[in-house]
Amino acid sequence: MARIISVANQKGGVGKTTTTVNLGACLAYYGKRVLIIDIDAQGNATSGMGIRKSDVSKDIYDVLVNEEPVDNVIHQTTRENLDVVPATIQLAGAEIELTPMMARESRLKTALKDIREEYDYILIDCPPSLGHLTINAFTVSDSILIPVQCEYYALEGLSQLLNTIRLVQKHFNPDLRIEGVLLTMYDARTNLGSEVVEEVRKYFRERVYDTIIPRNVRLSEAPSHGLPIIDYDPRSRGAETYLALAKEVLAHE
Ligand code: ADP
Ligand code: MG
Repeated sequence: MARIISVANQKGGVGKTTTTVNLGACLAYYGKRVLIIDIDAQGNATSGMGIRKSDVSKDIYDVLVNEEPVDNVIHQTTRENLDVVPATIQLAGAEIELTPMMARESRLKTALKDIREEYDYILIDCPPSLGHLTINAFTVSDSILIPVQCEYYALEGLSQLLNTIRLVQKHFNPDLRIEGVLLTMYDARTNLGSEVVEEVRKYFRERVYDTIIPRNVRLSEAPSHGLPIIDYDPRSRGAETYLALAKEVLAHE
């Protein structure tokens, strides 16, 4: 049975998509069968995995809104053991279209029932909001991985996220837990970085991963080549640290 992990933070640009794609690829590198589900209408995980928009006829929108079987929308990537359910801009309408639907918070859960056996990990790349799409992700997930960017106000807005997690635990998914908090875009050249690390560790304690993802230009280049970092530049700091993160996640099992 796949462990399902949502990668979430309603702040944009904190490294959710970068983490989903690269953690997913690194888990696949270690021999796990991985499915990445893109539920952000931006489709950054989709294009970052090398899936071209022109090759996508149906996507996660059709699964959530039109009850398309998820098997029909899975794409394979160039890396073995790594599959993707893509998102395209049509997903932008889903927040509104889901509103009047019955059991709207559990549509993703229902959709994934039949494929949970086929993977070891399912990672969900969440949008920068706490709307119906994110609630769907939390309702089906075992846990949530929270990337936090090493910058001023890093913790700002996290109380809203934690509140949403508590609401989902109360109403839809009592077993939901926090997988871990990941510090991202760390810049060793500034004092700010280490101050933020200390602050986040004080608040989240042992739930913060030992691995810290540095700011690394190769990580920001890789998506435009449609490749995870371990295929784009396996010797980079970015590749090294995402492999280390994957090891930590595997050790949590
Ligand atoms: P989110 O999904 O939370 O919006 P992204 O993963 O898309 O965030 O990251 C935002 C931007 O920062 C992207 O352009 C991405 O390539 C870049 N980026 C993410 N992580 C790093 C990093 N560790 N070093 C350098 N650039 C990064
Ligand atoms: Mg993103």
